[in-house]
Amino acid sequence: MGVFYGAATTEAGVCKDRDVIVIGGGNSAGQGAVFLAGYARSVTVMVRGEGLAATMSRYLIDRIEAMANINVLPFHQVESATGSDHLETVTLRNVKTGESDVREVAAVFIFIGAEPRTEWLGDDIARDHHGFVLTGRDLLSDGRAPASWPLERDPLLLETGVPGVFAADDVRHGSMKRVAAAVGEGSMAVSFVHQYLADL
Ligand SMILES: Cc1cc2nc3c(=O)[nH]c(=O)nc-3n(C[C@H](O)[C@H](O)[C@H](O)COP(=O)(O)OP(=O)(O)OC[C@H]3O[C@@H](n4cnc5c(N)ncnc54)[C@H](O)[C@@H]3O)c2cc1C
Repeated sequence: MGVFYGAATTEAGVCKDRDVIVIGGGNSAGQGAVFLAGYARSVTVMVRGEGLAATMSRYLIDRIEAMANINVLPFHQVESATGSDHLETVTLRNVKTGESDVREVAAVFIFIGAEPRTEWLGDDIARDHHGFVLTGRDLLSDGRAPASWPLERDPLLLETGVPGVFAADDVRHGSMKRVAAAVGEGSMAVSFVHQYLADL
């Protein structure tokens, strides 16, 4: 509906000859902006800080500066968005002056990363250093399950460090983080639950 997490080829049609906003100042935001600039009338790269230099590679900044239809908007964040069945306007706020500005846009592409909120899982469910849950082969080290793993068999593909506890998609380390993958992994997890119960 006009608010995208990432920028795929399928979404380029939405912004053809229209104005779009890219939120974020990292390399993925830069790559997204350059890609979208091939379709959109204008691409505004919006960041909360003073610019891209501290967070984006120089070669991408150079490409952005060379493209006439990309502009960088520092010291701004999104305050709100409106639309009936598709995004129509966003209100941007200048974090320095506090002033707001309403813009008509076809789409907003968000490149601000993701933070899994998994602290509540405790120590038994192993996570990577970002907090994403480790499953299956990602739990193995030198081909061996961790010392805390109590079974003879290795963890199943989507099984966490606790037998019978499974994780699917966004929260899982190494997952695709897309809707189709989430649906697929969700159904696979159900099948693994049956396998786990059958083994008991
Ligand atoms: C703005 C945005 C746009 C996106 N656009 C696209 C797109 O165009 N195409 C695409 O393929 N993907 C897109 N994605 C990614 C896609 O939404 C996710 O990859 C997908 O929803 C992941 O599904 P999931 O089941 O892993 O997690 P979620 O859909 O996040 O589901 C997790 C559920 O668990 C619940 N939950 C969390 N903690 C607890 C708890 N402690 N107890 C109980 N319940 C809990 C949450 O409330 C939520 O309902 C987008 C994501 C965002 C944020």
